[in-house]
Amino acid sequence: MVPHRPIPIKSRKALSKLYDVLYRKASDLFREYDPCKIRHMPTGEIACVAHATLNSKMTCCCGNCKWLGRNGCRVRALYCKVWICSTLRGKNPKLERQLRHLSAIASRHDLLHIRASKKESFDRRKNNVIHAKV
Ligand code: SF4
Ligand code: SF4
Repeated sequence: MVPHRPIPIKSRKALSKLYDVLYRKASDLFREYDPCKIRHMPTGEIACVAHATLNSKMTCCCGNCKWLGRNGCRVRALYCKVWICSTLRGKNPKLERQLRHLSAIASRHDLLHIRASKKESFDRRKNNVIHAKV
């Protein structure tokens, strides 16, 4: 877990580091809990078995995203990494609690931008530099 102690964010470099830390922690959680069950299917496609199996008409949350490549997401999108779909909600309170914590920190620093790469997330921020507390 990211500590609750105040961290003054004074530079883009520090904010960039925070983005990376939050992204890595969220990635570790997804690896640990494997809620989406992303699997290579015999057809060569990748599917999130938890929500949209190959025969399902539903599409995964990444459907039609410009960043979706043959092997999954091609960027480090923090918004997507701390978010889960309604199919998963309520299934793993421990995971959700930890993701909510990371998401709240990211939100406080204006780092949550839907389907955005790290660069896009920074470009979309209202301020390049903020002084905030975690
Ligand atoms: S959040 Fe839901 S729709 Fe998105 S990859 Fe995970 S299971 Fe699939
Ligand atoms: S940016 Fe988000 S929606 Fe797009 S491919 Fe990556 S994880 Fe999926």
